[in-house]
Amino acid sequence: MFDSQIQQAIASLNREGVVAIPTETVYGLAADASSDKAVAAIYAIKNRPVFNPLILHVEHGEQAFLFGDFSPEAQRLAKLFWQPGTPAHRPLTLIVPIRRGISLSKLATVGLETVGIRVPDHPLTQALLHRHGRPLFAPSANMSTKISATDASIVQETLGDKISCLLDGGPCRIGLESTILDTTIAPFSLLRYGGTTLEELTSVCGYAPKLSSPGSVMKAPGMLKKHYVPSLKLKMNQTEPKEGEAFLGFGQISFGPYNLSVSKDLREAAGNLFRFLYALDDPQRFSGIRVAPIPQEGLGWAINDRLERASCSE
Ligand code: AMP
Ligand code: MG
Repeated sequence: MFDSQIQQAIASLNREGVVAIPTETVYGLAADASSDKAVAAIYAIKNRPVFNPLILHVEHGEQAFLFGDFSPEAQRLAKLFWQPGTPAHRPLTLIVPIRRGISLSKLATVGLETVGIRVPDHPLTQALLHRHGRPLFAPSANMSTKISATDASIVQETLGDKISCLLDGGPCRIGLESTILDTTIAPFSLLRYGGTTLEELTSVCGYAPKLSSPGSVMKAPGMLKKHYVPSLKLKMNQTEPKEGEAFLGFGQISFGPYNLSVSKDLREAAGNLFRFLYALDDPQRFSGIRVAPIPQEGLGWAINDRLERASCSE
């Protein structure tokens, strides 16, 4: 079963097709890293702006070092955080200069001299990368600007008619995208909050990487202000319910059946976030979505970042 799924996925990649893959963060849409044709298909399926680069997914650090020029400090982070299958593993994308002379789709890197690389931690996708022997470019498996998919059934419902191959790896363990760290400048800067916390980065870097504001030192106009958007209007930091609107609770601030984490566990909340937003985004039942305050610590930074973009109406 496992084996035939992988074989089918590899056949698809070799035909320059697109494969939906499970990762510890969210589901991805993957293409062979050297295939402009498959990468173009990903942009078309997602309706993704063509200036927004894709992340390169590799099996392990050694493979990453063949494709990117890692400084000694970036290598140290890679070795510490990229340990799939172990509790030490973290979802971290490192931006590094592209190594000269290697073949990577120019569409996926949108002509930049840098590439974002990460190691996904999921046994199915690890097996796929191992058997394929080459890295994959993959953005999240959702329509551009919409809510990310954290279960195969959501990928099937939202993109099923557009993709021919979906590896079903069950619900995503973390449920939030990777943290993105730019290692091409000193000190390193944060391009996106995600499943690796600021505290974890600080303890390894020796300083807290600062978030680079859009439009300043950004390597790519990729961190869209409006993103992860449900069709209903979303309001964050709410402490009261409103007639007709859904309420997504946290801790004691809770009205109705949906609570990101009754015990205020931010890991549990991260895992529930996109799944609950997807379930509540139903204009037949509600006229809006209210979300309780989430503390700005640990994974709370990434959860609040997603909620802020999801509530953006511009
Ligand atoms: P997603 O498409 O949801 O997987 O997100 C991928 C993110 O990585 C986007 O926000 C991209 O803009 C960002 N990204 C990928 N490569 C680079 C790069 N070389 N420089 C800056 N950001 C990047
Ligand atoms: Mg995405």
